[in-house]
Amino acid sequence: MSTKYIFVTGGVTSSLGKGIIAASLAQLLQARGFKVTIQKFDPYLNIDPGTLNPYEHGECYVTDDGAETDLDLGHYERFLNIRTSQANNVTTGRIYNNVITKERKGEYLGKTVQVIPHITDEIKRNIFLLGETGEYDFIITEIGGCVGDIESLPFIETVRQVKWELPPSSSMVIHLTLIPYLKAAKELKTKPTQHSVKELLEAGIQPDILVCRTEMPLPMDIRKKLALFCNVHLNSVIEAMDAETIYDVPILMRKEKLDERVLAKLKVQSKEEPHLENWKAFLGKLKNPVNEVNIALVGKYVSLPDAYKSIAEAFVHAGTEHDCKVNVKWISSEEVTRESVNSILANADGVLVAPGFGERGLEGKIETIRYVRENKIPFFGICLGMQCAVVEFARNVLGLEASSTELNPKTKNPVIDMMEEQKRITNKGGTMRLGAYYCKLKKGSKTYMAYGESLISERHRHRYEFNNKFIDQLEQAGLKAVGVNPESNLVEVVELKDHPWYVGVQYHPELKSTVLNPHPLFVRFVEAALDHKKSRVNN
Ligand code: GLN
Repeated sequence: MSTKYIFVTGGVTSSLGKGIIAASLAQLLQARGFKVTIQKFDPYLNIDPGTLNPYEHGECYVTDDGAETDLDLGHYERFLNIRTSQANNVTTGRIYNNVITKERKGEYLGKTVQVIPHITDEIKRNIFLLGETGEYDFIITEIGGCVGDIESLPFIETVRQVKWELPPSSSMVIHLTLIPYLKAAKELKTKPTQHSVKELLEAGIQPDILVCRTEMPLPMDIRKKLALFCNVHLNSVIEAMDAETIYDVPILMRKEKLDERVLAKLKVQSKEEPHLENWKAFLGKLKNPVNEVNIALVGKYVSLPDAYKSIAEAFVHAGTEHDCKVNVKWISSEEVTRESVNSILANADGVLVAPGFGERGLEGKIETIRYVRENKIPFFGICLGMQCAVVEFARNVLGLEASSTELNPKTKNPVIDMMEEQKRITNKGGTMRLGAYYCKLKKGSKTYMAYGESLISERHRHRYEFNNKFIDQLEQAGLKAVGVNPESNLVEVVELKDHPWYVGVQYHPELKSTVLNPHPLFVRFVEAALDHKKSRVNN
């Protein structure tokens, strides 16, 4: 079958969860045996979200090929258990950058370069890039932002052109919209949706399916009204009720027959019903935990949980492996001091020190790590968290006046230092050590036992590294480098001797945790937290 293109647009307001709807539809199609991928177009002018503050845009998700991308790609990978790449996330900035670079090379042969056709052609080229690999039956393209936004106009115009240019039944548009409930009137309101569909129609696009976010079930009269005013079939008005967990959404969409409607519109035969047994088994465990643990997540951007989205989801996946509910308590490292650490971490069965950048809250992280090291509380340090663990150990065990040069460029003992190749780099965007690298694990280490193999590949996003000049001193005192990059010799994993579970990783394991493949380090960390809890109860 030739590749089919499904576009997902949003109306009325942003944050309706287009990414989750797209991922859920993809999941249902995949569960019927189709090959599916999702891409996201973001209308902002940054080339990628790599330079954005997490408070602006949530977590920056990194793919194997080193692309810094929107956090929705994390949902795509977690739901579909597939790998995405740079081709799955394109911004307006990247589109313009490509066009302007071509213009400078003289590739437009003296023509005036314009939004239509040059920008829209470049968007089209990116839409078809994944389709042309021949690897996929369906490409779902999520258009960021809302219809009617000035900045998403070129994308919407491109969708119109694609719908027009492809043969019939090769593409379709799903419009995600909000049906607000007015408490005073005790009514669900369709007007905002009518307006946003009008906006789409003005741009030349008739949506094929409406997915309606709502707090209340959609009664038949509302469905009929939406169908009538928005020119869609009654059975193409899909209810998307607020869900208890994002992982319920594929099941809710199945009940509303979203996948069947899509297949019918695109004239695709599907012999199989979706195989959702594994997904349902996961949901069953998620909703019926028999255990519970408290994990303290100490970081900088804790007031916006989206800043650590993948870590939060990795705990959901790992918890279900143990039938265990993981309560993540978000703690701002700035609040942790020598005096407060005891009371702040009193109920923690495990402590994760999060990735991050810059100096703010550093001393709180170091204090946290001292506390968990001395009190033998399971500890997991990720990226900056691992770097802080090395600094803490150098300071408090070796007695060195040590730091990371990111935090104190003049430190006497730079146990964490900028990588050589980073020292020459001046541009901030896309220049960190990014993407997947191999790491060789020492047999017998906790990390090796978690993975069950010695050569692993994990994703990175950092400029600083463990300084090998200090390796002997640190190892002799008990902080072991148990994972090393086989080519560059960079230390990727440290573990502490004589501690129930103390693992620091320079890479980001959370990015590879999926529903069907929870990350082994998160699984073992939750297990260690469970053991710690039991030993606390017994004492
Ligand atoms: N700021 C640190 C570095 O650049 C850690 C980065 C991170 O935690 N992702 O090396």
